[in-house]
Amino acid sequence: MSTIDAAPVALIVHAHPEPHSFSTAQMATAAQALRDAGYQVDVLDLYADAWAPTLAREEFAPVEGHFKPQAEQMRAVRNGTLDAAVRAHLDRLLAADLLVLSFPMWWFSLPAILKGWVDRVFVMGGVFGGDYGLFGDAALVGKRAMLLFTTGGSSESFRSGGALGSMDDFLFHIHRGMLEFVGFQVIGPVVTYGPARMTDQERTAALDTVRESVALIAADSRAIVL
Ligand SMILES: Cc1cc2nc3c(=O)[nH]c(=O)nc-3n(C[C@H](O)[C@H](O)[C@H](O)COP(=O)(O)OP(=O)(O)OC[C@H]3O[C@@H](n4cnc5c(N)ncnc54)[C@H](O)[C@@H]3O)c2cc1C
Repeated sequence: MSTIDAAPVALIVHAHPEPHSFSTAQMATAAQALRDAGYQVDVLDLYADAWAPTLAREEFAPVEGHFKPQAEQMRAVRNGTLDAAVRAHLDRLLAADLLVLSFPMWWFSLPAILKGWVDRVFVMGGVFGGDYGLFGDAALVGKRAMLLFTTGGSSESFRSGGALGSMDDFLFHIHRGMLEFVGFQVIGPVVTYGPARMTDQERTAALDTVRESVALIAADSRAIVL
């Protein structure tokens, strides 16, 4: 928790281009479950906000010669010249006790707009590197993070030895390479497999499962580390 008396804060970063998608309904269900458990919920809807996902030279103070993105991030943190949108999102990230990345699985990973959020907001010098180290010495130690997502493939196809391959293998680069890298303790993901092939009744039941899973996570002060 941020302070002894304040409600814990959950930041949900959501990436789906369709407001009436199952993924968006799943995100709204999770948000309500967190509120019901006493969390203050902050939602960043990247498509609705038209988040610009590319880490570009132009977002930094004029760079002469060879552009080194991480060196520029360090310089911008040091000089207080981070891009205003990045600074605002970084502050919301730093204020959160729980980070939820909400998305449909695209190419066995995050949609580009969400990967671009990580590229720009997991700033070197702001959440790792500089005054911080990596993993256990990074800025977000003591906070939890989790993935909330949907797939096209079935749960069977994502089992070890299944047609697509083990889900754990696909998620490793996000869990270890992004979330743990900046200090988060990773909670096991909440996944709805193949909502497009479900009946309405099955989708309603799936949202109930999401609600129950997120309520358990919210109630559990111990992180379930993968
Ligand atoms: C570029 C791209 C790459 C992809 N790569 C992969 C991949 O690598 N692996 C993989 O497994 N899949 C992949 N997919 C498929 C993708 O993961 C699924 O299509 C997606 O996760 C399904 O979730 P959705 O929210 O988009 O579903 P939607 O199609 O939005 O929703 C499914 C159904 O749920 C209904 N619904 C919406 N809200 C509710 C509600 N409140 N209650 C009940 N029903 C509701 C909708 O009306 C719809 O009928 C890819 C898709 C794309 C576009």
